[in-house]
Amino acid sequence: MTQYPHGHVFYRKLTRDYPTIVRGAGCWLYDATGRAYLDGCGGAFVANIGHGVREVADAMAAQASRLAYVSGAAFTHPAVEEFARALAALCPGDLDHVYPLTSGSDAIEAALKLTRQYWAETGRSAKQTIIALAPAYHGNTLLALSASAREHYKSYYSGWLVEVVRVPAPYPYRCACGGTPPFCPACSGDALEEAIVRVGPERIAAFIAEPVGGSSTGASVAPPPYWRRVRELCDRHGVLFVADEVLVGAGRTGTWSSLQPYGVVPDVLVLGKGIAGGYAPLSAVVAPQRIADVFARGSGALLHAQTFSHHPVSCAAGLATLQYLASHRLVERCAAVAPRFHRAVAQLADLEIVGDIRGRGLLAGIELVADRTTRAAFARWAHVAERVTDAALAEGLVVWPNVGHADGINGDLVMLAPPFVVTEEEIEQIAARLRGALARVTSELSASGEAAGRS
Ligand code: PLP
Repeated sequence: MTQYPHGHVFYRKLTRDYPTIVRGAGCWLYDATGRAYLDGCGGAFVANIGHGVREVADAMAAQASRLAYVSGAAFTHPAVEEFARALAALCPGDLDHVYPLTSGSDAIEAALKLTRQYWAETGRSAKQTIIALAPAYHGNTLLALSASAREHYKSYYSGWLVEVVRVPAPYPYRCACGGTPPFCPACSGDALEEAIVRVGPERIAAFIAEPVGGSSTGASVAPPPYWRRVRELCDRHGVLFVADEVLVGAGRTGTWSSLQPYGVVPDVLVLGKGIAGGYAPLSAVVAPQRIADVFARGSGALLHAQTFSHHPVSCAAGLATLQYLASHRLVERCAAVAPRFHRAVAQLADLEIVGDIRGRGLLAGIELVADRTTRAAFARWAHVAERVTDAALAEGLVVWPNVGHADGINGDLVMLAPPFVVTEEEIEQIAARLRGALARVTSELSASGEAAGRS
């Protein structure tokens, strides 16, 4: 274990102990003392193909020894050409031009800038407004953070953020209709249409959304007609639809794009996290030629130049990851083991603290509540999600916590997103270890009377 100020690392959290992980293999991580942890969330929804894949490491080493870096402003190279070709072949509809970047936030910034520049290049510079959902999370750089409805991340920076028009997210567990017809305005898309009409389509550049909820709504799935309505509204009003699939894309929900089951193609698709399996920081903005052509005929470039865009070693990692996914049929495997995974996780529903379990593919959110009848969230001061995450780690299981989704401040959930190579036995272990963690926190809460500490 290591804790600040030991050493020279400015850690993400300066108040906790960090196990030192020295090795990973498949779904497992090993620390310096030899202790094993079952990686139930792919680190941060990233390690989709599992840890320790030799083919990806070899491809990166070969690329680094051949050519580590050239500027994307001056040169192209085989790694980016082949990665873009392979990625475009997987993307739905006409999405066929790939702009590789490094982080999800970075790619969201680029995608949103792309929409504004696109309209300016077509002579419609008044189209600047972004519409986004609440809850939503799109990243931590300032434009991506502006588009996010995550108030506790914004607290110190509010004066630096731009205004984004917000509509309620389709969130069946916490909205009026519960996700069944007749749908409430959030789930029907009426809330989006109302916002478009109120602001005026002539002022709107883009609507951005996560097609399956990421951490912000804990794998919440909208009623199926929702995304077709979004597509129809965006088409009718001339609004670009940006799908943020940083977390749920690249096969995580059992199809390459999480919009595929609805037959919906966004105007701009943003990918990140799993596209290079965590072997290199890699994200991508994917746009169709009809959009890229506007830039080609106009100013000639998307104004989002970055030193490490189109990076050879990152693209080699991305290409090797896509090849590994294909040769091991891992997206198909993700879809095939999903029912077993959801059956195992659904068994946690008998625990008093569990309000809802949902998700798709190898992605699940477990929402934790103080009262299952009223769906009342725990008070934030009880730190329930963090305690469950710590208790899971003590059980040798890594899960992802999220807070604030119930009302912007309160709300606790944990998420599971194991690598696509997870075995049935590992799925059972994930469920059993999480059960142990949830039971422990439940008994701590009732022993201290904190269950009454509702929001
Ligand atoms: N979009 C979504 C849906 C995310 O979940 C995240 C990160 O969790 C981001 C964007 C930002 O990605 P990154 O953390 O790589 O900057």
